[in-house]
Amino acid sequence: MVEYTRRQRLTEDLKNGWISIRALSMSYKFPEKVIADDIEHIKKSISRRGKLMLKPAECINCGFVFKEREKIKGPSKCPECKSERIKDGMFMLVENK
Ligand SMILES: [Zn+2]
Repeated sequence: MVEYTRRQRLTEDLKNGWISIRALSMSYKFPEKVIADDIEHIKKSISRRGKLMLKPAECINCGFVFKEREKIKGPSKCPECKSERIKDGMFMLVENK
């Protein structure tokens, strides 16, 4: 039986549809920072075979949309209204046909 590494499993999960770092962190039982690093790594290594799609995080309170950030991990506070009710950014991996 093939033993998959966490990054290989993550890659498979990301192909299955939109998912947030928070959700991945809960299902893998690894801190969000570790998952964010993994995704950063996957993003670099996938470059020729596919594309990592990102739906940016959004403020639930005022609707402020966080632009694509250097850091993959979502923000914790809205710069506009200072609300902490942030809808997580979501990720999905789309493979080249
Ligand atoms: Zn806001």
